[in-house]
Amino acid sequence: MKIRFLGAHNCETKDTRLVSLLIDDVLAIDAGGLSSSLSLEAQKKIKAVLLTHQHYDHIRDIPTLAMNLFLGGANTTVYSIPAVFEVLENNLMDEVIYPDFRQKPPDKPTIGFSPIEPNKARKILDYDVLPVPVKHGVPTVGYQLGAGGKSFFYTGDTGPGLSQCWEQISPQLLIIEATGSNKFTEWAVGGGHLTPSLLERELEGFREVKGYLPRIIIVHMSSHLEKDIAAEIAAVAKALDIPITLAHEGMEINL
Ligand SMILES: [Zn+2]
Ligand SMILES: [Zn+2]
Repeated sequence: MKIRFLGAHNCETKDTRLVSLLIDDVLAIDAGGLSSSLSLEAQKKIKAVLLTHQHYDHIRDIPTLAMNLFLGGANTTVYSIPAVFEVLENNLMDEVIYPDFRQKPPDKPTIGFSPIEPNKARKILDYDVLPVPVKHGVPTVGYQLGAGGKSFFYTGDTGPGLSQCWEQISPQLLIIEATGSNKFTEWAVGGGHLTPSLLERELEGFREVKGYLPRIIIVHMSSHLEKDIAAEIAAVAKALDIPITLAHEGMEINL
């Protein structure tokens, strides 16, 4: 699997985009930086978009992607939990803010919604997908994606308390968030996010439950805190004696 980090941050600036991953050019996870990162041709190749939760930084490019696909005569399917579809339907593609591309064109709609069930494995395109609930302020699922004997797990936004999640997954790569630096730990716990020190505890928990630690990549950093987060993550990597990488826009890895 080829994983491209189109957006790796919690803030959009000239140099950073909101979180979005692109797998093998055909499947996207979260939609914070899809249309701003990809050519029209690349957008038309996306056949599935998996959304972790309803927050704006994760769903924002569904309408803009849909407009491009509509004008280009292409279509795609969005997979998520029902709460996310309610927000898209009622607050974003509601015919007030933007068109409802599930009806356009009527004979071959641009966007289809396909609800997923947490904890229930299913096939999406050629991937084995397992949505697993994580700890955030609104209903949120992370996704384990497997193909060709390899798998990774992307948490989406999450706070601490992931031991039940760890029991259900066995990835070679864990893509997990660290939104704030350690001085924001109290805020992070309240908001359902992680800081490097909270992440360290969760990774210790992973090792306890699974007996190993996968390769770790960090996303969803707040741009203005990134220096501190990077230094604190380096300390976590040293303490746990594992490599941990901070993602950046355009980073690509092969799994
Ligand atoms: Zn969120
Ligand atoms: Zn977020």
